[in-house]
Amino acid sequence: MTSQSDAARRKVLITGASLAGPTLAYWLHRYGFAVTVVEKAHAPRGGGYPIDVRGTAIEVVRRMGILPALQVAHIDTGRFTFLDADGGEVAALHPYAVAGSIAGQDLEVGRGDLTAALYETVRDDVEFVFDDSIDTLDQHERGVDVTFRSGGQRTFDVVVGADGMHSGTRKVLFGPEEQFHRYLGYGFAVFTMPNTLGLSRELLMWNTPGRAAALYATGDADDDLHAFLNFYQPEQPLHVLRDPDAQRDLVARTYAGAGWEVASIVEAMHQADDLFFDTAGQIRMPSWSSGRVAFVGDAAYAPSFLTGQGSSLALVGAYMLARSLATHGNHVDAFAAYERDTREFVTMNQALVDKGGARLFPTTAEALEQRNATLRDLVAMPATTPQPAHSALVLPAPAP
Ligand SMILES: Cc1cc2nc3c(=O)[nH]c(=O)nc-3n(C[C@H](O)[C@H](O)[C@H](O)COP(=O)(O)OP(=O)(O)OC[C@H]3O[C@@H](n4cnc5c(N)ncnc54)[C@H](O)[C@@H]3O)c2cc1C
Repeated sequence: MTSQSDAARRKVLITGASLAGPTLAYWLHRYGFAVTVVEKAHAPRGGGYPIDVRGTAIEVVRRMGILPALQVAHIDTGRFTFLDADGGEVAALHPYAVAGSIAGQDLEVGRGDLTAALYETVRDDVEFVFDDSIDTLDQHERGVDVTFRSGGQRTFDVVVGADGMHSGTRKVLFGPEEQFHRYLGYGFAVFTMPNTLGLSRELLMWNTPGRAAALYATGDADDDLHAFLNFYQPEQPLHVLRDPDAQRDLVARTYAGAGWEVASIVEAMHQADDLFFDTAGQIRMPSWSSGRVAFVGDAAYAPSFLTGQGSSLALVGAYMLARSLATHGNHVDAFAAYERDTREFVTMNQALVDKGGARLFPTTAEALEQRNATLRDLVAMPATTPQPAHSALVLPAPAP
């Protein structure tokens, strides 16, 4: 066990101030580490789509004291309605029946609300550096020399990449993302749009084979909608990833001629100033650390939105990594313990994509018909068992 005075001398640099970064910072500060968080944006990113906090991750936010605030921010969506090609209703269910979540326990909150709640817990206790990122890392026996894009240079005992799926820290250390990326066959666009349909606290999803268009009203009829277009692309459309005009063109071509409200959703995408486009994929690293540098959250094991477990893995992973660093006197043992105690949980949740995580987005007429039949069965007899993967890790007590 490391004494508090030993730990106090250990300096940790975390890259990324979204979910995993501030969670890790909170716990490391509590264990006596000197923590710096570097974030490339000029402030914690607000806004954004709704995300889930479920199972084991609920215990993490409870232990951080922010569960009551998140319960207030909880988006209490009453209905998830599936629509056919012409907009006719296929089935209407409670959203939790689809996701295997536990009503009254699991949470769905705006991504910005969760980021803000996490940041508030630690903003006055650790050093946050915005508008900057790591340029180079040089590891040696006594620490890691880091140069920042802004030009500064500092030395830390440990560096943790919590900078998301497309982690720049991972790239600096290991090279291109492709070696860790598992493409899952879909491209998607998310953006907000005016609530011309007057929807309130409900989710509508239109499907044809290989194409989905969802409108999510997380607030009242006068609040904007979250629009989500997800479509099958057997080959990853790498050529559009850094080109917003090409992304809009690809989406518009894919949805040409679609029924229901899809034409107006695509039109809204052209007007949106917050379009986020990416492909569905996972990060799978054979090891989550190398020397004095480790990874957490999406940077190490993004499970993709198809599992709805990215936020929960980020929260739980950060808790486990901090605890391992606090209970082991050196980074080698700490990183080994973090991986040994957390990997099975991560693997189970990443595997949800192979166990039907993509069933909401069938790519053939036959698969769509099967999905619709399953949904109608769920309406007749709602499933009562939560998804076991969500709670597969029993959170150990915080380090003393
Ligand atoms: C459309 C969509 C829907 C989703 N839906 C859900 C859902 O329903 N449920 C769910 O649980 N999850 C969902 N997710 C996933 C969830 O958003 C992520 O898993 C989660 O945010 C991961 O947190 P993180 O802190 O690891 O990384 P991120 O949230 O990606 O944060 C990374 C941070 O690092 C910063 N950064 C990036 N590069 C650098 C750099 N080089 N230097 C410094 N800082 C850097 C970024 O600005 C950002 O603040 C969804 C994701 C998407 C895209």
